[in-house]
Amino acid sequence: MSTGLLWARIPMPGPLEHVNVYMFYEGDSWTVVDTGIDTSRTRAVWGDLMAGPMGGKPVSRVIATHHHLDHIGLAGWFMAQHGATLVTTRTAYLMARMLKLDVQDAPTPQMLRFWRSSGMDAAIYAERETSRPFNTADAVADIPLGFTRIREGDEIEIGGRLWDVRCGNGHAPEHATFWSRDGEMVIGGDQLLASISPNIGVHTTEPDADPLGEWLESCERFKPFATDDQLILTGHKRIFTGLPTRLRQLTDNHHAALTRLLGFLEQPRTACDCFSVLFKREIKSGEYGLAMVEAMAHCNHLFAQGLVSRTMRGDGAYIWQKREMA
Ligand SMILES: [Zn+2]
Ligand SMILES: [Zn+2]
Repeated sequence: MSTGLLWARIPMPGPLEHVNVYMFYEGDSWTVVDTGIDTSRTRAVWGDLMAGPMGGKPVSRVIATHHHLDHIGLAGWFMAQHGATLVTTRTAYLMARMLKLDVQDAPTPQMLRFWRSSGMDAAIYAERETSRPFNTADAVADIPLGFTRIREGDEIEIGGRLWDVRCGNGHAPEHATFWSRDGEMVIGGDQLLASISPNIGVHTTEPDADPLGEWLESCERFKPFATDDQLILTGHKRIFTGLPTRLRQLTDNHHAALTRLLGFLEQPRTACDCFSVLFKREIKSGEYGLAMVEAMAHCNHLFAQGLVSRTMRGDGAYIWQKREMA
């Protein structure tokens, strides 16, 4: 407890395997940043953390960087069971609460229409059509009414340091990041990751969104504040230094993918036809959903920029094609 900062990895299923969480000591209690999903196992892990490294002191505050279940899944549990307050952005709070209340036992017509629009593989579509869809609510604790809002430009004290709140978009709307005034640390959540690129996806909620455009805008906006020395506390995998280089890599990778995609769309294709040119590797069945939403994001971005046309095929799939420029 000497540094007042603890880092733990909360297990989760799937290829990511864990989510990083951080605990800042506040003198008589803890601020927890991100929580993991809600399962009996993760509750037990937190029980061990609180009884052990956290010295039995209470959790007075939970900060959620964004609304995804691996980050906000146990926020409501900390509120209800431990009396913590929840601090997050308004969009993250509203999204998390909406998804907690939105339980679907079968795909909705809107989901089916969206999946068809991506040009989803027929066998995968047929299987999904008759299956219970992924429900965020399954792995998120009830979120009680009431939270404390943070927004772009706010300053907030965490663990005895003053931090600037900067909000990113693209991976999740109004994703909070925290930049310590002493220049030593940035809490990056999933906005700033080292070895994997954050998923940028279009979803049924907002099928015409341009999250990639918003992502690129966020990266450019962060660049002036990034230094080589800041330690980046990430949402997954390793923590890192060298943020200026990493921000450049993240934007360069997407620009390169967009250039490849535009060339590929000389011929008309669906979003799901474009996996090979976007990801340059075979997409396994467990990754299909993530690849599909990311391919849609790249197509929507080219469309928003007026570089490709979009027409709907008879089966409901959007066909994208590079526009001939005069
Ligand atoms: Zn996320
Ligand atoms: Zn995450």
